[in-house]
Amino acid sequence: MHEVTLIEGVMNTVRASALEHDIVRITRVKLVIGKLSMALPDSLQFAFQVLGEQDDLFRGAQLEIEEQEIQCRCSDCQQEFVVDKDYRFVCNFCNGVNVEIIRGRELYIDHYEGDKN
Ligand SMILES: [Zn+2]
Repeated sequence: MHEVTLIEGVMNTVRASALEHDIVRITRVKLVIGKLSMALPDSLQFAFQVLGEQDDLFRGAQLEIEEQEIQCRCSDCQQEFVVDKDYRFVCNFCNGVNVEIIRGRELYIDHYEGDKN
C-alpha cells in the first residue's frame, strides 16, 4: 500500500529530527498533501495509527492532514486557477490547454510537536 510507505517515510524523517532535538515522544504531526499526490487521507490516518501503536516514539500521536488544492497556471493567458474533482486541465479563462501545474503534487511535513524528557 502506497500510504504505508509514505507514512514510514514521514515517521523516519520525524524520528531523525526528534533524536536531534532530544524529543522522546511525538504528540502531533501535520502533513500537507496535494490532491495530485494520490495519497488518501483516510489511508494515511490508518497507516499512522497502526504503525504508531507499535512505536514508543509515536504512540498516541495525532496526525493532522491539510489537503492542498491543485493549482494551475495557463501558459497562454498567465491566469491561475484551481482544478477540482473532475481533473480537467483546461484554462478557466481562455480554454487553453497549455497548462502548468504549480501546486498539488506536494507531500511534506509541515511541522511536528513532541515532548522532551
Ligand atoms: Zn488561459
